[in-house]
Amino acid sequence: QVDRPEEIQEARLKLPVVGEEQKIMEAIYNNSSIVIWGATGSGKTTQLPQFLFEAGYGHPDSPNPGMIAVTQPRRVAAVSMSKRVGDELGQYSNRVSYQIRFDTNVSSSTAIKFMTDGILLREIAKDFSLSKYSVIIIDEAHERSVNTDILIGMASRIVDLRESMRKEDPSVKPLKLVIMSATLRISDFTQNAHLFRHGVPPLVQAEGRQYPVTTHFARRTHRDYVEEAFRKVSRGHRKLPAGGMLVFLTGQNEIKQLSKRLKQAFKPTQRGEDFQGKLKLSAADAPLETEDIELGDPDTGHQGEDDESDIDIVGLDDEDEDDQDFDLGEESMASTTRVHVLPLYSQLPTKEQLKVFESPPEGSRLIVLATNVAETSLTIPGIKYVFDCGRSKEKQYDLSTGVQTFQIGWISKASASQRAGRAGRTGPGHCYRMYSSAIYEADFADHTEPEILRTPIEGVVLQMKSMGLHNVINFPFPTPPSRQGLTKAEKLLRNLGALKPDGQVTDLGNKLSAYPLSPRYSKMLQIGHQHGCMPYVIALVSALAVGDLFVQDSQVDMTVSAAKTDKDLVYTNADRLEDTAREQRRKDFFRARRLLSKHDDTSDALRYLSAICAYAYASEEESFCEQMFLRAKGLKEASQLRSQLTDIVRTNNPGLLGSYEARLAEPAVKQIKALKQIVTAGFIDNVAIRADMSPEPPEMQRKPRGATEVPYYTLFRAHEGRAEEIDEKAVYIHPSSILAHLTPKEMPQYLVYSHLQQSTGSQASENTVPKVR
Ligand code: ADP
Ligand code: MG
Repeated sequence: QVDRPEEIQEARLKLPVVGEEQKIMEAIYNNSSIVIWGATGSGKTTQLPQFLFEAGYGHPDSPNPGMIAVTQPRRVAAVSMSKRVGDELGQYSNRVSYQIRFDTNVSSSTAIKFMTDGILLREIAKDFSLSKYSVIIIDEAHERSVNTDILIGMASRIVDLRESMRKEDPSVKPLKLVIMSATLRISDFTQNAHLFRHGVPPLVQAEGRQYPVTTHFARRTHRDYVEEAFRKVSRGHRKLPAGGMLVFLTGQNEIKQLSKRLKQAFKPTQRGEDFQGKLKLSAADAPLETEDIELGDPDTGHQGEDDESDIDIVGLDDEDEDDQDFDLGEESMASTTRVHVLPLYSQLPTKEQLKVFESPPEGSRLIVLATNVAETSLTIPGIKYVFDCGRSKEKQYDLSTGVQTFQIGWISKASASQRAGRAGRTGPGHCYRMYSSAIYEADFADHTEPEILRTPIEGVVLQMKSMGLHNVINFPFPTPPSRQGLTKAEKLLRNLGALKPDGQVTDLGNKLSAYPLSPRYSKMLQIGHQHGCMPYVIALVSALAVGDLFVQDSQVDMTVSAAKTDKDLVYTNADRLEDTAREQRRKDFFRARRLLSKHDDTSDALRYLSAICAYAYASEEESFCEQMFLRAKGLKEASQLRSQLTDIVRTNNPGLLGSYEARLAEPAVKQIKALKQIVTAGFIDNVAIRADMSPEPPEMQRKPRGATEVPYYTLFRAHEGRAEEIDEKAVYIHPSSILAHLTPKEMPQYLVYSHLQQSTGSQASENTVPKVR
């Protein structure tokens, strides 16, 4: 008997999922796998684990003693949901835990374990029957991340496996599989006989008792949606009745810009008189990972070519439109109401992320500026208004050319409806779409494409093969990857020596699969013992694998302002001060960069090594990172990965490594040379030659004025499908590379690069030219 706090008990009873408890539990008793659909906020994530817990799952002396696993695609969701469920479980709150990479509070009393899907996949590699668990709940299945897809495929087989083990040994307990989705796009699961060999799972629906959300389309779609968001949110804050606001943007730079402007516009000392100056947006800049990096000025980013409605409709300006939309027939908040602006994106430290769940200070309006993180898994209390820019940043990967791009593009209709739904959790709400219904109808796809169709999959392929799933092509994927993608992955794995020509895993391959890393990095670790390099290789690989450790120069201006905001300096008359500070800041920036490339000023990889090694010497890590223009969260993670990898290397190669030393001596010249060779071995297929030194030099149109204009040709791409298209085009060093500061003459004959990336920067004319990093 769970004693829940009273207000929780009351709130629970209103959740659609709670109304369906009996139906859901019956379906679970009668089937080994089920699919649950319920709109976002209907209670799936918080309630399902509790139903199972109350039915005895996870109790040592029940028929189902194994733990209840709940997987989430995102870390912040795993942590915050475990906390929420703990709160709801009253006296049993200590039975709920979470585990994410490098952080866990699992104990011997854990009955419900929230974790990221990556963690559970790793556990399968160690214990294929998942014997610790009695139920696997795979949450947010509609997001279709690669890990979720693979997990569903594996879990469907593990359920069968446990059943057949049980036939031989009755003491083996059955395993239940619960797949939860916030959208009805589940036919890839429910109608997939390959995935579920013993009959497809039944679907249980929890009718959404979502409050009504009124959707307001914009009449015009503005290209500069950050500017438009500022305008609309500011006006909304003045006109709209009390209630939290949730604003969807595409990345952290946009969030920081808007946050700064809103704070300035509504800061208490300048009450009534709004700051209207337009901020300088950062220059276009090259992203490495979807959420972590910025595309810079939205004006020059993805435009959505058919943006036809970016035309003035005479006689109806935005203010008039807003005033119609914002007139809800209720009293607006007092004009002195402050704003409580909070960012929410995945690179933000967890502690900061969790702030959105606290109530805002008395007499202020909560305004959360979020990326896709807030689209489905999280419920932020009190949100009544959603502002949706209609875009998101997605990593796209061209399988045939290996070129990846980060594009800001239109979201799908399904995503738009998820975003709108965030306004109707606690009462009727409104969603202000910053795009026209014409664009929505014409340009928004119905659903987002599963990630497995747009990402390299060599890591997945190797992991499956080393688990004995040799015939990857026959694996029950909810959506199978393309044959081309599989072939490409196998080819790389053969090049790395992880697979034999016949596709079987080699000994090396088995060792590589033990690392929670891309096989490229695992390979570097496996060959890293020359010249006592191993501790350096581990540090280097950790830094590269986490990636994006450096603040880019185009973001430096931003950093100044952010620092000022934090310290609450007064802005009035501070413009000159700011300019001086900014100049000083830029000087510091280049000094820091020189320091980190002192071992070798032609290698970005070694710059990563310097960063992580120097970090280990820092006494005050946060301020060290600030001084050195490094990303504290990334470095912290890289350092944790470093000690984890040290353990794995030691297990893989007994006797090879001494005890873990975070603080290493400077590498010797011989070691630096070896390290470069080791990096090359991991990226052996990613080599480019200076075009003018290649066997067939091109006719040069004009002399390169800088390093970033020196053309290179990639090697080893000629045999892959459409690759000719790229082979005929040159690639260029990315401006964020340390090499970008060399003179054209100093640029080396050969380059090893980590990836090719399509430029989405401001050089519109170069839009089709991939850049080499
Ligand atoms: P689903 O998984 O179906 O999207 P959840 O189980 O996450 O739904 O949330 C159900 C309800 O629980 C939400 O609508 C909200 O009312 C409440 N809730 C969830 N998390 C919190 C929280 N951190 N604080 C307050 N209420 C919450
Ligand atoms: Mg949920």
